[in-house]
Amino acid sequence: MTELPSRRLLLVHAHPDDESINNGATMARYAAEGAHITLVTCTLGERGEVIPPELAHLTGAALGQHRRSELSAAMAGLGVQDFRLLGGAGRYSDSGMMGLPDNDDPACFWQADVDEAAAHLVEVILEVRPQVLVTYDDNGGYGHPDHIQAHRVAMRAAELAAESGWTIPKVYWNRVPRPVVEDAFARLRDDLPGTPFTKAASVDDVPGVVAGERITAAIDGTAHAAAKAAAMRAHATQITVAEPYFVLSNELAQPILTTEYYELVRGERGPGERETDLFAGVEEAS
Ligand SMILES: [Zn+2]
Repeated sequence: MTELPSRRLLLVHAHPDDESINNGATMARYAAEGAHITLVTCTLGERGEVIPPELAHLTGAALGQHRRSELSAAMAGLGVQDFRLLGGAGRYSDSGMMGLPDNDDPACFWQADVDEAAAHLVEVILEVRPQVLVTYDDNGGYGHPDHIQAHRVAMRAAELAAESGWTIPKVYWNRVPRPVVEDAFARLRDDLPGTPFTKAASVDDVPGVVAGERITAAIDGTAHAAAKAAAMRAHATQITVAEPYFVLSNELAQPILTTEYYELVRGERGPGERETDLFAGVEEAS
């Protein structure tokens, strides 16, 4: 087996673009520091809404293929070489928004058997032996079926991998502290007339918002803000960026957060009020 760097981070996401929005600065920082970063994306986001009119013809498998190339471009910008699709490309398809008939498609991720899907991830965990796993909370951050399922599969895979010889020392959920995002939206309301966007989203549109006390780690990605914005821009079917803001297909402006926040849910918390390094306290051994 080839030698892996001593610090290894695994991120599990539902669709191409989620990684850049949630963790783009974190990924850029650790890539720059020489850590091994593995991204596992569970679906190709074939049911995403396409923003640019010139790409609006892309649907289903064609959209999935296009989003795969967007993901490659985003990862090139962040310096991440190891990115994979859960079970291989096309194994699980996008489940669409909660409550739609799409959720019943037997090929969709929401219909996947959790243990079977987790088995694909266990293979990755046993190969890479990450010290840190990042995924969503049990509501998937905002209730999208693929995000909820990504959470279930990631947490189950961590359990199964532990039974097979690799216990991931630290598991984090993506979070956003309410006071931080409230301040960011206050600035956005002032700045909005100077942006290409016409309407602001609200705090409730942001996934994973919790009280500040719940946050155990804050990763300052200021130095990697440009890389994060570029990675988000690479997902052009899904995101329009005008730094420091962006919109999704609903056209509601949101702030790009360059400090990214986490809640430690498994493992030993490092020193300080909030960790500033996801690897704090982990044994850097293979
Ligand atoms: Zn998503």
